[in-house]
Amino acid sequence: MNTRDRHKVTSTAEEFIELGDQRVSYTLRRSPRRRSIALLIDERGLRVAAPLAAPQQAIDSLLREHAVWVLRKVGDWQQKRPPPRSWAAGEQIMFIGQPLSLVMQSGIDAPKITGDCLLVGPPALTPKAVETRVRNWLKRQALDLYTQRCADFSVQLGLSAPAVRLSSARTRWGSCHVSGRISMNWRLIQAPLTWIDYVAAHEVAHLRQMNHSRAFWLAVAALVPDYADRRAALRRDTQRYLLL
Ligand SMILES: [Zn+2]
Repeated sequence: MNTRDRHKVTSTAEEFIELGDQRVSYTLRRSPRRRSIALLIDERGLRVAAPLAAPQQAIDSLLREHAVWVLRKVGDWQQKRPPPRSWAAGEQIMFIGQPLSLVMQSGIDAPKITGDCLLVGPPALTPKAVETRVRNWLKRQALDLYTQRCADFSVQLGLSAPAVRLSSARTRWGSCHVSGRISMNWRLIQAPLTWIDYVAAHEVAHLRQMNHSRAFWLAVAALVPDYADRRAALRRDTQRYLLL
């Protein structure tokens, strides 16, 4: 969790390359901090990290040079990855650590929870429209909850409630800007409340200490005494909640 926005000019794009007789898709991330081109396979598939000005030709050559490795790794990844979401009835959505089963229902304008179901409607919606509605609903819930938790923690530290906004970075859960604005990842709304609270407490503690000094961790501990366990759990299981 960095304390400053360092990714302002970073760009991300979906690209593909023909390797042998296969069309291989990858995510290209250009960043001002990179000095060289790097290939990586993670839970989302093939990713290429490149400097802002790297020519596409240089990226293509590197991919071709490592074609055997890329094809083998992408093949392994395709076998292991979870099946793509259908965004149809029965789909499981995680919400504050609880699974909700998607139910398509008529007369439903905005998604709503009933028991362990998330009602979405009308039933004629396309999967893409269902996905959009569910994501937007998750984001609204996330912003409400994060704003409330950050306000509560701020009061405990004798601070005024910070402005909170959502981020969608796939690499981090939260950040605190020098201006005092807190950003938290909307995907974290899928995780248990203890994790959400750890991230909120961490960022609120940065309002006191814009660093990771001993004083900073004491402030975090004042808000969530078992923060080390929560932090470890969040790090261990983080990928589950980044896929949506
Ligand atoms: Zn931090």
